[in-house]
Amino acid sequence: MAGMSRRTPRRTSRPEAAAAPGPKARPRSAAAPGPAPAVRPDGPCPCGLPAAYGECCGRFHTGAATAPTAERLMRSRYSAFVVRDAAYLLATWAPATRPRDVDFDPDMRWTGLEILDTRDGTPFHTTGTVAFTARYTHRGEPGELRERSRFEQAGGRWLYVDGTFG
Ligand SMILES: [Zn+2]
Repeated sequence: MAGMSRRTPRRTSRPEAAAAPGPKARPRSAAAPGPAPAVRPDGPCPCGLPAAYGECCGRFHTGAATAPTAERLMRSRYSAFVVRDAAYLLATWAPATRPRDVDFDPDMRWTGLEILDTRDGTPFHTTGTVAFTARYTHRGEPGELRERSRFEQAGGRWLYVDGTFG
């Protein structure tokens, strides 16, 4: 899910948007990423499971629990992008591929996650892959990101390794 941070080039179906030196190219202070969308502990979890955020991905974000499967980690990382929890994203990133920091695009609003396919990634595996579509609006314009993410497990903790688009 590295593609969900703006550090990684995003695929765009509008080349003119990428070429134009619009407001996107304006330098932004990492210290002022803009307010994250409000997600309440008793509100619906952004990851789409039928549970409250506090009972679902929120438990992983606070460290009260550890995601038991690659898919739950994937969901919780998506939710971390929604609530802009950089510390959680870094903590669940494999050391070999972990960036120095995570920079959120304040114009990005993640609007939904759909899991397309999961392979392995249970407590009995050491690796797993999760294919998903994450939907968003960027400056009001809808878009979606498709990725197949790879995960590895060590000592009972699942970590995000990397992902391929498409
Ligand atoms: Zn959740």
